[in-house]
Amino acid sequence: MSEFNYRSNELYCENVKVSSIVKAVGTPSYIYSYKSLLSQFMKLKEAFAEIKPLICFAMKANDNLAVVKSLVDQGAGCDIVSGGELYKALAVKTDPKKIVYASVGKTEEEIKASLKAGILLFNVESLPELEEIERIAKKLGKKTKAALRINPDVKAATHDRITTGTLQKKFGIDLLTAHKILKNRKKYKYVDICGVHMHIGSQITSKNPFISAIKKVAAFIDELKVDGIGLEYFDIGGGFGIVYNQEDPFCVKDFAKAIIPILKKTGLKIIMEPGRFICGNSGILATKILYLKDNGVKKFLIVDSGMNDLVRPSMYDAYHEIVPLRKLTGRKEKMDIVGPICESGDYFAKDRQVNVSLKKGDFLAIMSAGAYGHVMSSNYNSRTRAVEVLVKGNKYFVVRERETFKDLIKGQRV
Ligand code: PLP
Repeated sequence: MSEFNYRSNELYCENVKVSSIVKAVGTPSYIYSYKSLLSQFMKLKEAFAEIKPLICFAMKANDNLAVVKSLVDQGAGCDIVSGGELYKALAVKTDPKKIVYASVGKTEEEIKASLKAGILLFNVESLPELEEIERIAKKLGKKTKAALRINPDVKAATHDRITTGTLQKKFGIDLLTAHKILKNRKKYKYVDICGVHMHIGSQITSKNPFISAIKKVAAFIDELKVDGIGLEYFDIGGGFGIVYNQEDPFCVKDFAKAIIPILKKTGLKIIMEPGRFICGNSGILATKILYLKDNGVKKFLIVDSGMNDLVRPSMYDAYHEIVPLRKLTGRKEKMDIVGPICESGDYFAKDRQVNVSLKKGDFLAIMSAGAYGHVMSSNYNSRTRAVEVLVKGNKYFVVRERETFKDLIKGQRV
């Protein structure tokens, strides 16, 4: 997390002291670094400069408008998965011709809105979905492009719940079915099936599963060529992992070096859909210690954020480094760091070595929280969603206000 560092024992985001932000905006608070977002985006752009891919930011990782706009202003497109994400992408003036749409369950309304917006392409996940897009496009009199999401049946070394590229999972189309659809593609008068797409999972830190899957899909593209089926796009998805704990860093340069020759050989325009890689280590969740509790068997540090704010530890057993905003030295002891929610699964760390001098009122930073953090937050236990802040140099901006109790009852009737 290169933009979150201690200076004179105080945690900074870029040039702003994090404690000064939390004192002003309260906790829990998500704090993002603009510089980090851009530098992660540029790392990918530069590593793949030779083939100039369209980099569509996977909004599911972080759909804060300011975050998305920061990337769109640098030339990014958006990878969307819902009508809501389409709405947000258009709200920050993403060029519709840089929007790609994947989801196994696109509704009629979502398909209509995407056709009307004129997105670049649909990443189609089944034959019935393709038929549905054709039907709606015909009704609207609007032609569109599509890529078939191939399920390459490749196992990625990641958590089962974020593995997507095996045939045990609901995503994509198997190679045999995809081949049949492509052979028959002329029958679709409104959907031009001109690409293939893959996304094998998330938080994959080794390049090998990507290389295997890309080789498999590239071989499929070759097979299609033999059958006289030419394509325009190859969307290789996202999933590039980040360092949360002790993982080996995912080296985009090595990854690019390994796959560029394969991608070039396909002769297709390349799209990629990184989410976590861009924003994961560009954000933290700041929280305040409410209580210290010792039941004689275990010690607990109870904080004012819960699984409603950051669900990754509860949902995926995910590890997040947790550090105090003011650096401490001295003895550490094992404690669980937990939230206030009425669930035993509401924790951020188990048996973590924590400095014993931490006390009520001290602030902590839950690191690497910029991806799948605020986007996955909820109002469980009628808790308001956290404020989001974007730091740029020596300034910071509230880019989403903390919800109020009024927001909690919005639209409800008794
Ligand atoms: N593309 C698709 C189709 C996805 O489902 C996902 C996330 O699961 C992504 C891109 C982004 O993944 P990541 O944030 O791991 O890069």
